[in-house]
Amino acid sequence: MRIGIIGGTFNPIHYGHLNSAVEIREMFGLEKVIFIPSFIPPHKNVKDVLGPQHRLKMTELAVESNPGFSVSSIEIDRKGLSYSIETINEFKRIFSKEVELFFIIGIDAFLEIHTWKDVKRLFQSCNFIVSTRPDYRRDNLHEVIFNLLREKYNDIQFEIVRDDEISGCSKIAISISKYAVFAARTTPLNISSTDIRERISEGRTVKYLLPEKVESYIMNNRLYNR
Ligand code: ATP
Repeated sequence: MRIGIIGGTFNPIHYGHLNSAVEIREMFGLEKVIFIPSFIPPHKNVKDVLGPQHRLKMTELAVESNPGFSVSSIEIDRKGLSYSIETINEFKRIFSKEVELFFIIGIDAFLEIHTWKDVKRLFQSCNFIVSTRPDYRRDNLHEVIFNLLREKYNDIQFEIVRDDEISGCSKIAISISKYAVFAARTTPLNISSTDIRERISEGRTVKYLLPEKVESYIMNNRLYNR
């Protein structure tokens, strides 16, 4: 059984997150996609980050109508800096050996992966599905993998192999593990949480950028300086 996990600040969650997750779930035949709001994102300016309970609630509201989606508070419960390697290891302990884990990540975030904690162990722990975002190309992904990562970790080899049979996505095998990095062509939606926060603080509309229930939650709780 294949399960996808998608970590994020979700400050707030929007259709960019939800659409890439739903398309990837379909492409890769994932049983479920689990959304994991971080407690403290290690790579973001925390002063802009809303409290975890609000972000968790918004994520729950966003996914409740889709039985293929669920939310985990694993990082919020763990507290401290939310390192993906710890989350992946916790999930591997929880799931049976039959579960194949896919870590879903936007290309903007994947381009920073060489700065993450325990990169080598990450590549030994699960598959990665890298989704499209506007202004990024597949070449960017190859540059990171074949230049940056190869230079920094010369004991890991990456190799483009035959496209994945199930999803048809391009696949890059990792020499030190049985896992791979997949490049998924999801519909590029030019939506970001930063833009949504700015619009709200300026009193502009955010309709059609995120689910109505999330928008109502933001307005009712006067979040993002509204
Ligand atoms: P911010 O604007 O606050 O930096 P964000 O919109 O990038 O936030 P995050 O919560 O940081 O959202 O993103 C979580 C994950 O979802 C990351 O892997 C990110 O690359 C991915 N993601 C975010 N927005 C999109 C989008 N529009 N399309 C596809 N993936 C996205």
